[in-house]
Amino acid sequence: MSKMTAQDYMDREAKYGAHNYHPLPVVLDKGEGVYVWDTDGKKYFDFLSAYSAVNQGHCHPKIVNAMIEQAKQLTLTSRAFYSSQLGEFEEYVTKYFGFEKVLPMNTGAEADETAIKLCRKWGYMKKGIPTNEAKIICCNENFHGRTITIISMSTDPDAYEGYGPYTPGFVNVPYNDIDALEKELQDPNVAGFLVEPIQGEAGVYVPDSGYLKKASELCKKYNVLFIADEVQTGIARTGKLLAVDHEDVRPDILILGKAVSGGVFPVSCVLADDDIMLCIKPGEHGSTYGGNPIAAKVAIAALEVVKDEKLAENAERMGEIFRKELSSIDSDMIELVRGRGLLNAVVIKPKGGKTAWDVCVAMKDNGLLAKPTHGHIIRFAPPLTINETQLREALDKIKETFKQFE
Ligand SMILES: *Cc1c(COP(=O)(O)O)cnc(C)c1O
Repeated sequence: MSKMTAQDYMDREAKYGAHNYHPLPVVLDKGEGVYVWDTDGKKYFDFLSAYSAVNQGHCHPKIVNAMIEQAKQLTLTSRAFYSSQLGEFEEYVTKYFGFEKVLPMNTGAEADETAIKLCRKWGYMKKGIPTNEAKIICCNENFHGRTITIISMSTDPDAYEGYGPYTPGFVNVPYNDIDALEKELQDPNVAGFLVEPIQGEAGVYVPDSGYLKKASELCKKYNVLFIADEVQTGIARTGKLLAVDHEDVRPDILILGKAVSGGVFPVSCVLADDDIMLCIKPGEHGSTYGGNPIAAKVAIAALEVVKDEKLAENAERMGEIFRKELSSIDSDMIELVRGRGLLNAVVIKPKGGKTAWDVCVAMKDNGLLAKPTHGHIIRFAPPLTINETQLREALDKIKETFKQFE
């Protein structure tokens, strides 16, 4: 059989796979640390990190070995029975993040759905909201996943159009607008405020300093749960373990996914204290794979790596260098550089018909992978294991690319 070309791989995906993504034209075959290789053996810096799932670097040996060892022992029991692995993970993750209870799921969207259900349940049982009247406040330009209920909160037509009817019970407010939030919080039927501490998918929108703190204080004042979706911002991505840590905010409900397992296995979870979490009783919510033995082992290993390798500190330090160097690039295509830790973005001003997509294709040719979001924003989010030498080499590739568009 003759060797398949990159085009063959892409054509096969296009022929047999649903067309719900528009990938950059590169076919990846191998990964290690901050690098990935394509099917022709060309090496790239990965500056997407699977949307911040691979914070610990590709194929981290400690995480991969945890999976292999557990896979040989026991993979899935369902929650119909106890397992020897689940409790260890539950104890580890609750102590790690400082909550009394965890509810494990698999994907980010499922964890968001779980948090919404939990919040509504709390609203009825503890806040005394009349049956079926609970509301949850969410933000414009949010991204919480792809289910019908979640897209019912979305203000992005690409996400919601054509999928109605939508789930009721959500109120949208502008992001980073305390007055708009307080106005809605006064409604006694509001049970929760769901927010991303930095809006990742929207294009790495960092709110004004003090916004999250003020929002959490107002939630307390109006007896509304502050729910942080840290699926993308959590696990050291922004230079602290959680993005809310930058403002010393403790959410009532914390949603984690992506890098909880270092990109090795789908693991997500919802964390809360007893008063909230125990509103859900046996048989009222669940997932066949949620909290399975492999997930438990993989997540413990992935979270250990974050501490052992001081990834938050490194993200903070590398992020400073990265933004400083990016801001110093002299290109009329760069409108704005923003971000926190190693979650950063450049807003691109199209030039001579060339857009953020063209810049990403050129960066790919130069050996660095990133992906545009919303057409005109490029997100830069390498694995948090990147060292300064690697970062400066990557910056040279980015600089070289922008020079090509002069
Ligand atoms: C990626 C993401 C999700 C959804 O996670 P999936 O695993 O893709 O379902 C939810 N919230 C935020 C903030 C995300 O970035």
